[in-house]
Amino acid sequence: WFIAVEGGDGAGKTTQIDALARWLRKRGFDVVTTREPGATVLGAKLREILLHTKDREPVGARAEALLFAADRADHVEKVVRPALERGAIVLTDRHVDSSIAYQSGGRGLPVDQIAALSEFATEGLRPDLVVLLDVDPQVAWERAQTRGGEPDRLEAEPEQFHGRVREAFRSRAAADPDRYLVVDAAEPPGVIIAIVQDRLEELLPL
Ligand code: C5P
Ligand code: MG
Repeated sequence: WFIAVEGGDGAGKTTQIDALARWLRKRGFDVVTTREPGATVLGAKLREILLHTKDREPVGARAEALLFAADRADHVEKVVRPALERGAIVLTDRHVDSSIAYQSGGRGLPVDQIAALSEFATEGLRPDLVVLLDVDPQVAWERAQTRGGEPDRLEAEPEQFHGRVREAFRSRAAADPDRYLVVDAAEPPGVIIAIVQDRLEELLPL
C-alpha cells in the first residue's frame, strides 16, 4: 500500500505521518515513512537547492518543476518501489499532488504539463490513498510563528500563493473522492488521526 499525506505548509503532515506509522506498526505492518523532496542522497542535495534559496539566485518555475521531478524519480526508484515490492506500507510526506499544487497552482505552470512530468518521474505509480490535510493559509501562518526550523514557502511567498496551492489540492481531491480523504487541518491532531484510521480500516486488512 502506497499512501501520500499532502497539504500546504504548516498543515501538520509530519505529526500525522508519525502517528499513523506508530499505529500501523502496532498492528504488525512493515511501514516505511519517507518524504519528498529529500529522501535519497540526490534528493537531500535537491532539497537543499530548492529550499535554501536565501541570498541565492532564484530558481525559475520550470527549473524548479524539473528538480522536484528529479527528486521524485529517484525517490520512487530507490525507496518507494523497493519497499512496496517487499510488501511494506509506504507513507510519504508529499508526492505528485504537491507538484500540481505548488508548481502549477502556485507558480502557474500548465497543470497537464506538470501531470505529464510527474507521470514520467513515477512511471505511472500512484498512491492508493491521498490524505489531504486541508489548511487555511492564515491558520498555517499563525502556527508557523511557534514552529521554527527549516525555511519554507510560508514566509517566502504571499498569502495568495498559498491560497492557490490550497485550491489546487482541493480540486484534485474533489475530482477523485475514492482515492482522496480530505481532513480539516484545523481540527486537533487526535481528531485527525481518528478520521484517517477509520478510512484505513476500510482499506487495509486490519
Ligand atoms: O513539506 P516540507 O516542509 O518538507 O516541504 C518543503 C517545502 O517545499 C515547503 O515549503 C513546500 O512548500 C515546498 N514544496 C514545493 N513544491 C513541491 C513540494 C514542496 O514548493 N512540489
Ligand atoms: Mg515544512
